[in-house]
Amino acid sequence: MKRELICVACPLGCTVTVEYNDEEILSVTGNTCKRGEAYAKTEITNPTRSLTSSVKVNGGVLPVVPVKSSKPVPKSMLFDCMKVINSVTVDAPVKIGQVIIENILDTGADIIATNND
Ligand code: SF4
Repeated sequence: MKRELICVACPLGCTVTVEYNDEEILSVTGNTCKRGEAYAKTEITNPTRSLTSSVKVNGGVLPVVPVKSSKPVPKSMLFDCMKVINSVTVDAPVKIGQVIIENILDTGADIIATNND
């Protein structure tokens, strides 16, 4: 199989072509650097995405606070992570950088506040 990807590891956005079968990556071409190769391999074998959302706040200035994952989580788990995030309500005050959900669904990623409330 062959797949063409746009590398998002830097703003250059190289077009990277990956050839693979059910068992292994056969080749990665078109990348300008090693980061592109790593990105392409991960995208084929275990694609991940950074997660951004918001969490409900009790007694805050605003009703929600923006949050993000401390590191990318498996793409296949995004929907389940969102269900957990949507089920949570925190009490004000919330501080930027505060861990709202630790190790969400055992992904190793924390959900952290990206603003105060
Ligand atoms: S392959 Fe390297 S240079 Fe090209 S977009 Fe990816 S990180 Fe940037």
